[in-house]
Amino acid sequence: MAIEPISAADIKVPSEVSRLRDLAYNLWWSWTPRARRLFSSINAELWAYYRNPVQLLINIEPHQWERLISNGGAFMSDYRRVIRDFDKYMNPETTPFQTLYPDYQGGAVAYFSTEFGIHECLGIYSGGLGVLSGDHAKAASDMGLPFIGIGILYRKGYFHQSVDSDGDQDHVFSDFDFYRLPISPLQSSTGRNLVVSVNLPWGDVHARVWQLRVGRVNLYLLDTDILENNPADRPITSQLYVRGRSMRLCQELVLGVGGARVLHELGVEPAVWHMNEGHSAFLSIERMREYMAGGLTWDEARENVVNSTLFTTHTPVPAGNEVFDFGLAEKYLRHHAQAMNVDVGRLLELGKSYPEGGSQPFNLTTLGIRMSARTNGVSKLHGEVASHMWHHLFPGKSAEDLPIEYVTNGVHVATWLGHDIRTLVEEELGNDWNENLTNQTFWGRIREIDNQDLWDAHNNQKDRLIRLVRSRLLEQFARHGKSPDDMREIASVLDPNVLTIGFARRFATYKRAGLIFQDYERLRAILKNADMPVQIIFSGKAHPADMPGQELVRNIFNIAFHSDLRGHVVFLEDYEIRVARHLVQGVDIWLNTPRRPREASGTSGMKAAMNGAPNLSISDGWWPEAYNGKNGWVISDGRDFDNEEMQDYEDSSSFYDLMEKEVVPAYYQHRENGVPVKWLDLMKESMATITPAFSAARMIEEYARDYYMPVTLREHQA
Ligand SMILES: *Cc1c(COP(=O)(O)O)cnc(C)c1O
Repeated sequence: MAIEPISAADIKVPSEVSRLRDLAYNLWWSWTPRARRLFSSINAELWAYYRNPVQLLINIEPHQWERLISNGGAFMSDYRRVIRDFDKYMNPETTPFQTLYPDYQGGAVAYFSTEFGIHECLGIYSGGLGVLSGDHAKAASDMGLPFIGIGILYRKGYFHQSVDSDGDQDHVFSDFDFYRLPISPLQSSTGRNLVVSVNLPWGDVHARVWQLRVGRVNLYLLDTDILENNPADRPITSQLYVRGRSMRLCQELVLGVGGARVLHELGVEPAVWHMNEGHSAFLSIERMREYMAGGLTWDEARENVVNSTLFTTHTPVPAGNEVFDFGLAEKYLRHHAQAMNVDVGRLLELGKSYPEGGSQPFNLTTLGIRMSARTNGVSKLHGEVASHMWHHLFPGKSAEDLPIEYVTNGVHVATWLGHDIRTLVEEELGNDWNENLTNQTFWGRIREIDNQDLWDAHNNQKDRLIRLVRSRLLEQFARHGKSPDDMREIASVLDPNVLTIGFARRFATYKRAGLIFQDYERLRAILKNADMPVQIIFSGKAHPADMPGQELVRNIFNIAFHSDLRGHVVFLEDYEIRVARHLVQGVDIWLNTPRRPREASGTSGMKAAMNGAPNLSISDGWWPEAYNGKNGWVISDGRDFDNEEMQDYEDSSSFYDLMEKEVVPAYYQHRENGVPVKWLDLMKESMATITPAFSAARMIEEYARDYYMPVTLREHQA
């Protein structure tokens, strides 16, 4: 592909609207509806096609500006208003952070993550972990926290899922043209593009650094696809979660070692280094090397690193905990050991899980825990589960001491609230909702909103979801060469008046997408009940190496389009942020059926709840903390069986019982003027209780208070 370097300065816009460039290159627009509407009003077609303001500005024809600029002033007044909002956001009189910590003089928080999910136009995420990192960065910006994110700019990102007519998942990888994304190469003080190097066994690999502005905070993204590198090394940052183990290890060295070097080059001395999952744990080794080069001993260097490092573990599932054969780890770490003048065995020791286990692989979770003063899980239950998994790494502590703490995840409300619900909240609760994100009383006033108004807002969002589902299915069916009759059927699939369940997440087997099909007859009776029918929308990708996950995609695809449940079950391909937004904003209920206790937190249910979709969930992850008996339902009574089949039977039976006795009647019965009053109580309770408790604003406040602000993490803990 021919790539023509373009920089922000090359983008031609008339001087009257020159600030559009600043706006385009700051992802603030992604959670600001007025800014998105402004871009859309420039050229709705280009905006809908690219969903990326940089592409919009590059592709707009010059003569179109005249019409906009002179068009009775409407565009110009929208423009001025958005710029005023943007400037106010970027340069506030005071931030929540300054109010809470007026005397803080310390450095920034450096937050390392292998994926960041900010907006669909930047495909450098795969799922929950990335979207969480993105929401964390947005919340840090809102708070005014001194914060820098470090990640990777993947040339191909994660795959797009295309499902063929037999239900087989195809993996489509396409290249991003970095010069047409809202990012720019970071320049060093000499005005040249900043490049850092990372030592690999055969020599140095270089990484260019890209800057992504997310409101008031910056993310720095590493990219090895540059001419300075040997062609064999350029694809190191090509694919997120690449399958080959050595390639994965190289990527993680680029993230950890390269990321630490970026901060060094910029002269940044972070107060806290936050390793979000184990992928970035090599940063601790690079930091030790730096300290030792400055004259410290191994023990002193290690203590300095540990005291300023925080590690967050995100999953108890083995596949999510990164491990490497010792031989491989040794090959890649030998140079780093030499640079530190120590035996490589000492570095390898840090990633060994069990003191006696010579054959244990090198584990990045272990390295992360050992190199941090404190480790946290992402929900109360997960903190306990992780403490049981890893307590042997905490000398003198047992699992009951809960050596792994927790900060329950949260989601960025402005990103996930749908248009109609947001407008209603602004009208009824006030425009200052964004300053009251953690205020329970403020959100409690949701209960006073008129039933009809809330029902209408929800149904508008549901209509928008159904339109998206239909158009995506039409694209897919056209690709499959379906007949015009089939196309007509699909063009009217899903009934807006029918109770609609959403189930969308990665198709990892522990999430049990197939659970509700355990008793097919009973499910069919529920879905095809003539008076009170139900429909379900599934969406989700299985990792390219996860064959059982792909089998699940195939099964559900076949049920959706080749069974007697056709029309009641649909499968939407290529689950990503845009699809997620429509789903959580438009469905009536959010279903979650993980095998307990493997769901560390889960965040999609929070997004749905804030939009008025009650959760119907196993008591796992965040849900035990949120469920209050009135804001949704718990599947099963929390009993854990050793036998997986019994567990599946128990959980699916509980699901059918709840659907038959509670969920379906609450939706269809007790209608007043067509409005289901009992259902609205559930919606309101869900929004009122979950929005303030599970916002990313609450999460970032907890991280700041309990982890980031203490001068050294270890002193605070003692
Ligand atoms: C929120 C989100 C997730 C996380 O969902 P879980 O509830 O953790 O399974 C995954 N993918 C996308 C695109 C999301 O927006």
